[in-house]
Amino acid sequence: MTTIIDGNEIGDQITDGVAACTDTLISEDVTPGLATVLMSDDGASETYVSMKQQACEEIGIEGFHHEINADEPAETLFSTIDELNGDPAVHGILVQMPVPDHVNKRDVLERIDPMKDVDGFHPENVGRLVAGNARYKPCTPHGIQKILAETGVETEGKDAVVVGRSDIVGKPMANLLIQYGTGGNATTTVCHSRTADLAEKTRNADIVIAAAGVPEMIDGSMLSEGTTVVDVGINRVDADTEKGYELVGDVEFESAKTKADAITPVPGGVGPLTIAMLMYNTAKAASLQSGIDITLP
Ligand code: NDP
Repeated sequence: MTTIIDGNEIGDQITDGVAACTDTLISEDVTPGLATVLMSDDGASETYVSMKQQACEEIGIEGFHHEINADEPAETLFSTIDELNGDPAVHGILVQMPVPDHVNKRDVLERIDPMKDVDGFHPENVGRLVAGNARYKPCTPHGIQKILAETGVETEGKDAVVVGRSDIVGKPMANLLIQYGTGGNATTTVCHSRTADLAEKTRNADIVIAAAGVPEMIDGSMLSEGTTVVDVGINRVDADTEKGYELVGDVEFESAKTKADAITPVPGGVGPLTIAMLMYNTAKAASLQSGIDITLP
């Protein structure tokens, strides 16, 4: 029997644990605060930001939201970040990506105070992750670690294949998988658009993590029996639905399911964990900045 991994259920468990941490912080007069900044007209980005703010509200984290017109100069975004860096009520800052072309993404990431960088994308936090001393693990890969742990998938000694080498998913995922300790110790291969024979790599994997952003590119013929499949992809494809599209992952679910031991669906797999781990990092940021101990889930 293939296990269809329920990301909503795992996300809810983590969210409950983070809510308990938030209660502890509030009882000590510290309300964790998360600021989201949106500089984009993109509908999907607006949806992601509003989901993050809604999660804050449900948990008791104070949400602050700033919208900047997409044609404003980069300096407007930088001065907003500077204000948030200096605001003691704000423990975490998230600038929703992508930012407009005239704004340098690296400058944005480096402008955020590393202590408030709850996405974990500041070079200081990337360096700490690689060195095995992470402060804030990036939300999506950290959520995938939680999915594997909750599903009872051992990573130690396993062959893991990560498809995608982006700074937000592929690279940090691979880094987590090769770390010493629980959730790590995997022999990890990172594949990308120049990989010569992707199917040969995925067929030899115990764990496949697909984060390429290409609809249904991995099907059952590319997997061996018993593989654990984590599908990170969120792709809009045209469909005869009310919205005119539907969401599919990077994995062709029906054929992959016949081979996999366990598989995440899209939607309802990795997505809920990404938001839960953002709440986790915000509670951690409030704890680190206030010196109040909490027991994170
Ligand atoms: P990027 O576009 O930044 O990176 C995609 C990566 O996939 C690149 O490294 C690229 O290779 C590689 N790739 C592209 N095509 C192929 C191919 N045919 N074969 C092998 N590798 C390929 O995407 P992200 O990492 O930001 O996101 C990946 C997917 O995950 C997207 O669908 C995104 O929407 C989704 N996502 C979902 C989240 C969630 O919460 N569930 C969170 C974040 C992202 P190269 O480097 O050579 O170009």
